[in-house]
Amino acid sequence: MRSAYNRWFGADVPLEVAYFNISLAFIVVLNTALVCSGLYIGESKLFFYFILSGLGFVAFLTAYVLQTQKYGLTMFCITLLLEGLILPGVYITDRRFISFALVYYFFPLLTTVFVQNKRFRVIAYITFILSFFGAVSYMYLNSNANSLGITGTIIPVVDVLIPFMICGLFVVVSVLQTLRHYRYESEEVEKSRIEADRMEKSKDIFLMNMSHEIRTPMNAIMNAGELIASKNISSDTRQNVRHIMNACKALISTIDDLLVFSRVENKRIVLAESTYELKPLLDDIINMISVRLMNTDVKFYVYIDPSLPKGLFGDMARIRQVFINILNNAVKYTKKGHVTLRVIMTDRHDSSMTIHAEIEDSGIGIKQEMLPHLFEDFVRVQDKINESLKKEGSGLGLSITKAIIDEFGGKISVESEYNKGSIFSFDIPQQISDPSPIAMVKDHDEVGIIIYDRDVECEERLRETLKDLKIRNTTVYSKEQLAEIIDGNDGTYTHIFISSENSEESMDILRHYREMVSVVLRNVGDTESRLTADKITRPISSINVAEFFNEEDEDVISDGLELNEEVTGNLRCFMVKDARAIVVDDNMTNLIVSDRLLRNLGFDVVTASNGNDAVSLISSMTFDIVFIDYMMPGMDGVDTLRAIRRMPEKWTSKVPCLVLTADAHEGAKQMLLNAGFDDYLSKPVDVSELEYMISKYLPKEKLTEYE
Ligand code: ADP
Repeated sequence: MRSAYNRWFGADVPLEVAYFNISLAFIVVLNTALVCSGLYIGESKLFFYFILSGLGFVAFLTAYVLQTQKYGLTMFCITLLLEGLILPGVYITDRRFISFALVYYFFPLLTTVFVQNKRFRVIAYITFILSFFGAVSYMYLNSNANSLGITGTIIPVVDVLIPFMICGLFVVVSVLQTLRHYRYESEEVEKSRIEADRMEKSKDIFLMNMSHEIRTPMNAIMNAGELIASKNISSDTRQNVRHIMNACKALISTIDDLLVFSRVENKRIVLAESTYELKPLLDDIINMISVRLMNTDVKFYVYIDPSLPKGLFGDMARIRQVFINILNNAVKYTKKGHVTLRVIMTDRHDSSMTIHAEIEDSGIGIKQEMLPHLFEDFVRVQDKINESLKKEGSGLGLSITKAIIDEFGGKISVESEYNKGSIFSFDIPQQISDPSPIAMVKDHDEVGIIIYDRDVECEERLRETLKDLKIRNTTVYSKEQLAEIIDGNDGTYTHIFISSENSEESMDILRHYREMVSVVLRNVGDTESRLTADKITRPISSINVAEFFNEEDEDVISDGLELNEEVTGNLRCFMVKDARAIVVDDNMTNLIVSDRLLRNLGFDVVTASNGNDAVSLISSMTFDIVFIDYMMPGMDGVDTLRAIRRMPEKWTSKVPCLVLTADAHEGAKQMLLNAGFDDYLSKPVDVSELEYMISKYLPKEKLTEYE
């Protein structure tokens, strides 16, 4: 009984269905009352035919609605039937001017108010007005004074009050049902909001845990790779190691994407701003893309405005991510032709400027109708024609890229021609921390270059770069032309830039013109060379050309070992002496790898696999630096640090403690610094970052120049 009631009139029953059920119940009650009153006063047969045929129709329509679930339409038919046919029929055959049946008219009017939707409601009102006034007029013209009420006179209780009560009850029941239903719905919405919040939190926690779980073994792989690369190995092996490291970096950047996505989605993208050098950033990006395009039919061209400022203030990691996301797409969706990166400066002021970058490719292009949706989450637009180019990806890269650029207050745009290629451009405003130009050749007047490059596109770009760097240059297209220029050379030209493509010819030229400095423009991956000449690796840009000319002047190590990231990023330039480090990590592989890395730098290394062991080791010997993993069972990194800081010995309580964390989340890093760590190293540990930290925290007298 209760379950039948809930099924028909429960708060969770959709309003349309509940109104239908309520109306149906009232129709049955009203018609029963009508039949009773008809029997009481001995109505004509026609009167009962109308009522019974009305009930028959309602039964038929109920069966129809149960089959089709078309509640709106069915209720509309029932209302029309009552308003237009049954009730006027009953009213007229009843032959009473004011009676039970007159008030009955209110009932279909009420069902119209509650049940019908807008369009049906208008038709029902019109039908009601026509049939009501038609029936009343008919009765007025054809009735006599005796036919006012049930017994010929009006009995207020029977003729007016009961029908009014029935209609009133209908209104009350319908309103209550509406309120119950709305209350139920708002409770449901609240429940789903709480559930969504819970899911959101567990998704974040899941992503962070996964990030940690993946980063920890990646740490071991990357560090082992660094170790192998630091040994004397063949160039083949070195290249394979580089592939492994690049794959690791790509995987880590995917994890970062996921983390950023979870934050972007919650509008929680946080920029961690600090000063950084633009050159190593661009170098890194260019290297990564060159390696990806190695051995493909796609050429990589680069133009870097040499007047870009050397030092900037902003979130370097995010800028790197923007470049990498767009360039990775260009590489992914281009099978042959070129990918070109242009980085210039716009909107230059004393302390700020805007990085303007364009990434052009000759790839599959994007259809015009897809362009407006490109920056939405999970949008991927490959189609049947380009099925063969279907690539890995999540459809998140561009939406994250846009969110990051928006956060910087910049903008991104795209132009594309289907099956021809695309150009993505973006602007990111940054503060300037060091205004000196990113690429500059100090003695540019003393240099003159003869270019002999078969790749016309490359040659043009090289000329553009040399012009920017104010270096004299001329291009030759044959050996004869080269000979002619060199024969008449009065010191104007000092260098020959020659492409490595034609190396027999190149060797000939190099052997012949020993008085000139020969520079081979080689492709990335061309490690073996029979040419004993200087080399610049393509893509040629103002950065690597300026670097080539400034190389001899550059101080590898600056005074007092004040190392900057750029130097440490490229080569190690110190060793440590008489220094002891302790590494605390519950992961055996990480311990072994860290131990080797630090030993390579000259440390005496002690390892501990948990916080307790670390604390007792630190209380029994002196350490110059402490590395502690954050996530450890039992005493975690922060507990271990607190125990160390509480030690009575003066030095121990001040020893530099660095935390190793696989949690890339900005908030997590800040939390660790607040907990008292001197600094943090993200896992996988980047060797140059490790060296930088050591140079920063070890006393200067413990660092010696590297021979
Ligand atoms: P995905 O991980 O799928 O590459 P993105 O958000 O980075 O996700 O890109 C969204 C979609 O935009 C891609 O699936 C691809 O269809 C299209 N797209 C992005 N960059 C290019 C490009 N350079 N050339 C052609 N299509 C592109």
